[in-house]
Order: sequence, then C-alpha cells, then structure tokens
Amino acid sequence: MKTFGYAAQDATSALAPFHFERKDAGPQDVVIDILYCGICHSDIHQARNEWGNSNYPMVPGHEIVGRISAVGSEVSKFKIGDLGGVGCMLDSCRQCESCQAGEEQFCEKGAAFTYNGVYADGSPTYGGYSKQIVVHQDFALKISEKLDLAATAPLLCAGITTYSPLRHWKVSKGQRVGVIGLGGLGHMGLKFAHALGAHVTQFTTSPDKEADARRLGAHEVVNTRQEGALEGLAPFDFILDTVAAPHDVNPFLRLLRRDATMVLVGVPEVPLSVESFAVVAGRRSLSGSLIGGIRETQEMLDFCAEHSIVSDIELIPIQKVNEAYERTIRSDVKYRFVIDMNTLTENA
Ligand code: NAP
Ligand code: ZN
Ligand code: ZN
Repeated sequence: MKTFGYAAQDATSALAPFHFERKDAGPQDVVIDILYCGICHSDIHQARNEWGNSNYPMVPGHEIVGRISAVGSEVSKFKIGDLGGVGCMLDSCRQCESCQAGEEQFCEKGAAFTYNGVYADGSPTYGGYSKQIVVHQDFALKISEKLDLAATAPLLCAGITTYSPLRHWKVSKGQRVGVIGLGGLGHMGLKFAHALGAHVTQFTTSPDKEADARRLGAHEVVNTRQEGALEGLAPFDFILDTVAAPHDVNPFLRLLRRDATMVLVGVPEVPLSVESFAVVAGRRSLSGSLIGGIRETQEMLDFCAEHSIVSDIELIPIQKVNEAYERTIRSDVKYRFVIDMNTLTENA
C-alpha cells in the first residue's frame, strides 16, 4: 500500500517528508491509521546510525497508537474502529524457543523490528512517523479507551522496556530501587517502581528535575553531578540504568547489596567499562533487558489502564521532529515527545 511519513535518507541529514510503499495487508493483518507516535531515543540513535546498523531510507517510530481502519479476512482480535497499538516489533518466527516463551524480542531468527528491520521475506519495515501501519494481529496491542491516547503512545516502548525488567527481577513492595536518568524511559521506570511499592531513588544529572521526580514517585532524588552524591546511600536491591549517553556505571554497581542486579536498558553507542571489583565484591550482577514480549506488553498496558499510568508528554507537530531530536539529546523534554500525526499532510 502507498503511504507517506517522515524519513531519514542518511545518517546526517534531517528527517523530511517521504512517500513510500508498505507491505500490503494480508488476511491476518490489520491496518492502523496512526494518531500519535512517541519519539524514543532509539529513533535518534538509529536515524543517525549511532549503532552502526542503519538502513535507509528509514521511517523511525515504534511508540504507535491509532484506530484500526481495515482488517484482513482472518482477523478476529480487532474490528474496524478499535484502538490499536504497535511497539517495537511487527512479527517474529513464532516457532523458536524464545517465541514459544512469549519473548519474541529475542526471536532466534530475528524479530521483524518495526523499522530499520526486515520481514521474513527480507523486505524492509517502516515505522510510525507515518499515516498508516500494517501489522499482524498477533503483534497489535489492545489500547484502553480510558487513558489519554497521546500519553499512551510512549508505553509501547518506554513503558514495556522499563516494566519488563522490574517484573523479571521481581521488584516488590519495600525494596530499594534506583532509577538512573529521568528521560522517556526513566520517568516510566520511576512510575512503575513506585506503583509496585518500591522505595525509589531517582538519580539525575539535571537538578531542575528534582521536584518532578518527587511528583512522579521518587522518595529520594540524587544529583549525580554533585561531588560525593553517591556516598552513604543505603544498599539497593535493584538499579535500572536508562542513560542514553556514555557514563561510568561503576559507582552505581557499588551501591548494590550482595547478590543484587543492575540492569542496563540504555544503549549508548560506546562500550561501557566495568571494574571487576565492582561486581566481584558482593557477587553483584550487571545485566541488560530488551523491550518485552507481546504478552507482557499487553499485561503492561492493562496494568497502566488499571493504575491510570501514562507518560508525561510534550505533543508536537511532525514538522518539529528534528528540533525535538536536538532537545531530547539535551535532556530538554518533560518527559517524552509525542508527534500528533494529524499534522502530517501529503505535502509536508
Ligand atoms: P532520553 O529520553 O533521552 O533519556 C535519557 C536520560 O539519560 C536523559 O533524560 C538524562 O536524564 C540521562 N542522560 C543523558 N545524558 C547523560 C549523561 N551524559 N550522563 C548521565 N545521564 C545522562 O532517552 P530514552 O528514550 O529514555 O532512552 C534511553 C536509552 O535507552 C537510549 O539509549 C535508548 O536507545 C535506550 N532504549 C533501550 C531500549 C531497550 O529495549 N533496552 C528501549 C528503548 C530505548 P537526567 O537529565 O535525569 O540525567
Ligand atoms: Zn524505543
Ligand atoms: Zn522466533
């Protein structure tokens, strides 16, 4: 099907209007008319080829919500007019051990990521900075009519990426949890950790975010740029690192109690350096986590509907997407940009 959106043509030029051809909808597919799409820092890393794996032209965007405008003949999960969401994946093999376990993000054949990816037949995928998207019904998420729709969009990546590790490492009531970085992922991690009853410490390099961090659920806020700020903090049961830029993880590892884990979800473009003693002492673990499976993404969306959790957003017209990228890099957004897709017209 023919559609249009905004694309990066190479690693250095600004995103600009782009007409393109999407995979036609099959019997198991739904077509979603996109209403809102969040801007994830991963969009910036990939549009600029910071991870070294970019394919162009690239239409970024994997925090997608909209209304179903067409359904294939075998679709039973949705009907025309329903809300639908798409996160970071459009499909996967369904057969491998990871897919069978509901962890399609780790599909051994490689999941079809929503953009900068390929379908099983090798054709490219294009993301949510566009009018429509086609997705297999199994990878489309049910979206509550109760929540603010624009503020729901970031749940599809920032939400699941922070919810999944908190669940996997069984964060529970009364535990001491640290969240590093108060950005798109960080503020969702903070909200979820708070909702799970943890005692949450927000680590930030931006002292002006302190009042917000407390409003969002932090019991303590630590300005990591301040000399000696990490000294004397009580040991942590779990730390979630959402930082998008190179930084020193060792002082945070040392804050973990015996056998506790720090999980990286941020993916800076350069390797981290880990001091052996930071993990040898206390038998601590450093791990990572990639988004979450489809079943867990739906569980997270239902949890959000139940607990009235959405993202704190700044809504922008698509014409401001390049400016929004620059502001995101400067940590100048509270706390997620979301594109109002009504502003996307055929000619601009
Ligand atoms: P973001 O909105 O830009 O937030 C990142 C935050 O990191 C900033 O708000 C800032 O918080 C902090 N920060 C920035 N530069 C820093 C520096 N030099 N030193 C210390 N802290 C710094 O980005 P995001 O969308 O949340 O994404 C965060 C990272 O997660 C990105 O690398 C992204 O690609 C990755 N990601 C991973 C997954 C996954 O599945 N694992 C999914 C989505 C995104 P303060 O102002 O509070 O310091
Ligand atoms: Zn993302
Ligand atoms: Zn698979």
